[in-house]
Amino acid sequence: MHYRPIGKTGMSASIIGLGAEHLDNKPYETIESVINASLEQGFNIMDIFMPGETVRKNIGHALKGRRDQVLIQGHICSTDINEQYDRSRDLPTVKKYFENLLRCLETDYIDLGMLFFIDTEKDFSDVFESDILRYAQDLKQQGKIRAIGASSHVPRTARRVVETGAVDLLMFSINPAFDMMPAETYVLDYLENKITDYEKKLDNDRAALYRLCEQRGVAITVMKTLGAGKLLSPKHSPFAQPLTTAQCIHYALTRPAVVSVLLGCASREEVLDAAAYLDKSDTERDFSAILQSFQGDFRGSCVYCSHCLPCPAEINIAGVHKYLDTALLDENNIPPAITDQYRALNRRGSDCTACGSCEERCPFSVPIIKNMQNAAALLEKQP
Ligand code: SF4
Ligand code: SF4
Repeated sequence: MHYRPIGKTGMSASIIGLGAEHLDNKPYETIESVINASLEQGFNIMDIFMPGETVRKNIGHALKGRRDQVLIQGHICSTDINEQYDRSRDLPTVKKYFENLLRCLETDYIDLGMLFFIDTEKDFSDVFESDILRYAQDLKQQGKIRAIGASSHVPRTARRVVETGAVDLLMFSINPAFDMMPAETYVLDYLENKITDYEKKLDNDRAALYRLCEQRGVAITVMKTLGAGKLLSPKHSPFAQPLTTAQCIHYALTRPAVVSVLLGCASREEVLDAAAYLDKSDTERDFSAILQSFQGDFRGSCVYCSHCLPCPAEINIAGVHKYLDTALLDENNIPPAITDQYRALNRRGSDCTACGSCEERCPFSVPIIKNMQNAAALLEKQP
């Protein structure tokens, strides 16, 4: 397993983690088996948004004696009033459900306290301009949560959340299909009705959100990596062919700021299928053929697929592009963390010998040599 730092929190997450939603309404034996398999595979992060007491207690029981082996990403505002799963912005209700989460999990802290489901302007104001944000900040001060995050499916609202500076972590829905939808498309509708209204290029608002997170040091954990399984299905995939689990995981993990994909696994076999990503070859992980079918629209823009390697100068070309793209958000105000991380690379833009072999291999006609020069000029110049 590989681990990535969660922004500025001091914590690190496994690149593959467990989304516990499919454990809802499952017998205890299944829950224990999935959690055992996840820990055996090195998963150290688990998302628990479900408000139900039974599943919370079963997870707590299965984790007994192993609480310190996992980072719990738990949600603030997730409720099931009237036995209907819902989000509440009523502070006493929100407090009651959060305290219940601690009690059911038999713990006195949640590692990542997520402000739940910030999709609309109203969600934003109800949470970020109210006592609920202050409640989360108090929880952090009291040590009941170690960091504050938020979950969202909507790029523009998520952007507002990140711009508050109040969160260290964003849980966001990322997969190649969603990334090609116009930003105003509500991705949860896609899961209900097959939407074919694609822009046939990566949506700028989504790409800009990931870069903003990278720039601000806000980590992203990913939900809907497999589009609720639809991307794997020949019948439901919106592309000419279905993707594999490994291609979907790789796509998400190669977006800027992403630290972990949290896969909803309902059985030990599904955990093993997700973990098999670690043993896949570059060819098996490669998602570029899917995007390539829209080649005309992607031309010139790096999608971080690493198809251009090997580089005789051993430059991580996709990595350099990620830092360059983030730096280009505001050339005159590049965050020192981006410059530091870029400079920590073993090989940088200035190591490029302009041999050109990468440009022959890049399926998206990216002007790599020019971009290496730009990266050197922007990120290697003295402060
Ligand atoms: S330069 Fe081209 S081949 Fe290399 S990572 Fe970017 S898009 Fe992929
Ligand atoms: S042109 Fe530069 S980045 Fe591309 S393969 Fe050659 S040395 Fe590497």
